[in-house]
Amino acid sequence: MKMKIHSIGSRLFLAFALALAVVFCGDVFTFMELRKTEQIAQLVTTSIVPKRQIWNDIKALSNQHFVLSKQQLQTNDFRELARIKTAIKETELSLFVEQVSLSSLGLTNRESDDYDAFQNHMQTYLMEAATALNKLNSGQYKIAYSRFDKTAKTSLKRALAKIESSIETINREHAQANLAHRASINQSKRMMVISFILLFLTFIALLRWITIRISNPLLNLSSTLRCLTEGNYLTRIPDFPDRKDEIGVITNAAKAYQEVAQRRLELSKVVEREAKRLDAVLSNMPVGLCIFDQNFRIILKNQSFNELYELDQADDQANQKYCELIGATIRKNLDGASEEMSCHDLITKVRSNQSFAHTWRLDNGRAISVTIQKTSEGWVSIHKDITERLNAEAKVLHMAHHDSLTGLFNRNLFADTLENVIRRAKDGEAASVMVLDLDRFKSINDTLGHKAGDELLQQVAIRLQEVCSPGDLVFRLGGDEFAIIHHSNDIHASSRTLAEAILAILEENFILEGQTVSAAASIGIAIAPDHCETTDGIYKAADIALYHAKNMGRKCFAMFTTKLEEDIRAKESLEKYMLEAFNKSEFQMQYQPIIDTDSGEVRSFEALMRWNPMDDTAVSPALFIPLAEENGFINTLGEWALEEALKTAANWPDDIRVAVNLSPVQLNDETLYDTVSNLLNKYQVEPQRLELEITETVLLDDNAANIKLLERLHDLGVRIALDDFGTGYSSLSYLRMLPFDKIKVDRSFIKAMGNDNNSLAIVRAIVGLSRELGIDCTAEGVEDKKRLKAIESEGFSEVQGFVFSKAMHADALMDFLEMTEYRGRIAS
Ligand code: C2E
Ligand code: CA
Ligand code: CA
Repeated sequence: MKMKIHSIGSRLFLAFALALAVVFCGDVFTFMELRKTEQIAQLVTTSIVPKRQIWNDIKALSNQHFVLSKQQLQTNDFRELARIKTAIKETELSLFVEQVSLSSLGLTNRESDDYDAFQNHMQTYLMEAATALNKLNSGQYKIAYSRFDKTAKTSLKRALAKIESSIETINREHAQANLAHRASINQSKRMMVISFILLFLTFIALLRWITIRISNPLLNLSSTLRCLTEGNYLTRIPDFPDRKDEIGVITNAAKAYQEVAQRRLELSKVVEREAKRLDAVLSNMPVGLCIFDQNFRIILKNQSFNELYELDQADDQANQKYCELIGATIRKNLDGASEEMSCHDLITKVRSNQSFAHTWRLDNGRAISVTIQKTSEGWVSIHKDITERLNAEAKVLHMAHHDSLTGLFNRNLFADTLENVIRRAKDGEAASVMVLDLDRFKSINDTLGHKAGDELLQQVAIRLQEVCSPGDLVFRLGGDEFAIIHHSNDIHASSRTLAEAILAILEENFILEGQTVSAAASIGIAIAPDHCETTDGIYKAADIALYHAKNMGRKCFAMFTTKLEEDIRAKESLEKYMLEAFNKSEFQMQYQPIIDTDSGEVRSFEALMRWNPMDDTAVSPALFIPLAEENGFINTLGEWALEEALKTAANWPDDIRVAVNLSPVQLNDETLYDTVSNLLNKYQVEPQRLELEITETVLLDDNAANIKLLERLHDLGVRIALDDFGTGYSSLSYLRMLPFDKIKVDRSFIKAMGNDNNSLAIVRAIVGLSRELGIDCTAEGVEDKKRLKAIESEGFSEVQGFVFSKAMHADALMDFLEMTEYRGRIAS
């Protein structure tokens, strides 16, 4: 919006114009009055005074004419007469001239009338005078005298009276002109005074207006502006809210300047504050910062930079160049020729406008990361001490690839290494992957404690490294699982040799926490590329071989074969069909009698599970039970077996018990107790008639909970038997853990008894112990009479084996009981 400005210039112009107008008007009036005065004066000098003069002359000439005419009448002297005549003639001429002059002066009407009347009277006089003279000349003296004295004189008197009247009129006019003249002079004097006063007043007003409206505000403003320029931005600027002229504009400009100045002041305070902060940040930041311009001149260098390179701030030179600083000072701190090279590289790169990033190793061992970045105004170089970080990273890297307990490589690195193995195998460099499991780690850990377990793992790691060649890599994959990657030209033979050496060295006793402990291992071996050409595959192959080695009875190694893999596949497919088979009622319980050695009577039947697929041969429980344990299906199977066994046993004589095998997995299920007691109730079987067979692994896995559950079942009246004694660790200490009702010595022990004196001694000890404890001791897997005899002499209370019967269908049991033949078998 355009603002209408009533400027001081325009106002001043108006004011001066007004003053000028006042002066002009005064002058015009004065001039007019003066002109009038002049006209009056002119009238007096050119008309009134000459007219009066002429009238006076005419009057004198008229009187002179009368005197002369009278003399003419009276004189007789010729000579005199002649002179008189001449004088009369001259007087008349003068009269004529005067009259002509008078009429040329321009007469007023009244004057004209008077003049005309004068002329008439004068004419009459002159004619009468002339007549009198003529009469005289004719000698009529009397008539002449009388005519002259009477008629002529009267006319002259009349004429003179008119002259007097005219002079009087002229005198009056003169007096009036004088009056008018004086009045006019006075008027012009007044006008001059008035216009002067007006002019004076105008100037005074103008002066005052200029003072109040211009000078004072300008003075105020100028002192305010001086304050502002002196930095006193809070000074009060005079307020002229309604002024839109130059003062208003200057005031607004001053206010705007004040606002800007205040803002600038605030801004400068903020900038100052920020600068202080930035300064604080720069000097306290943990990285060395050096900023330099396009010409490589150092603009800024913080404290950390100096500290990093042990520079003294006092040595800072003006206009010092970055490259020179690096070249001269920092280079001295660098360790080794390659770092020198990188310093040279930095200087070259900066000179050719390129960024730079590198880590320098200094003489004092510190690692400095150096980055130089181009900016619009030069360069920023950041020098950071990353020694701690590099150390930590190295540690993390070590931790990422090493097992913290044994210091061996870990599973992460194993996976990476396998990739390498496969790649190199494809290039013709064969390698074997050996996976190793300690056979007794869990029991050692449980019995001797975790510290001993850790110590065992550490000692195993040392032994493994000792036995391996320098090119072999030893890993701990987790728990008691180790792996070795072995390289050799004759990989098959050398892998076997190494495996044997490992087994041998691990079979040697360990001293853990002052105790001598034996801990053997099982090893699975797979060879790349012969057995597999993928990373996953080669590890899986070694694992399959390990699984096989464990199945072979541990303390041995197994080499991967495709047959093993097929078995595993078969196992997997078996697992897949197990549930289907169960729903199709392909499972069945059979019962094997257990005979009392004294009476030869059937004491109990052990319920053994059978899987007879409709269109295939029977699957061994030794195959499907572990599978069901692995996938958890054993809980369903176990419960079903218990119900089947109790349902069947309900029909047997009251003195014949039923033994049901319990998987360790089932003992992890807290509902087992309720299941057992409910089923006992359901089929009205006395708890004492139920015997639950557990293996010692139950006691290994989760001692407290399992033992508690078994104790509760025992309290219910159910009998607990320790099955397969002699296959596992066979520690007699287990017997103290639970109030067992029976120990079943494993078939392998019974078998070995005949050939191995150690086994015999152990069997005798077990039998003796069970007798002392007052519990039953059953010999399992007695196949023939010879063995039966040997058993009898060792004092077993019960016998179980093919010598009496294999497991039978429930329907066949009654017939079996009625048969007396089996008694005789014991007796004979
Ligand atoms: P186990 O508990 O030791 O069962 C005895 C095994 O020895 C049975 O094998 C039986 O047939 C076999 N046997 C008995 N007398 C002789 C003999 O004189 N000579 C030979 N060579 N073998 C004999 P089976 O039925 O094949 O069972 C194998 C294992 O499967 C059982 O060993 C047991 O651990 C498990 N098992 C069987 N049924 C069940 C069950 O219902 N539940 C659970 N958890 N495990 C079961
Ligand atoms: Ca059993
Ligand atoms: Ca057994």
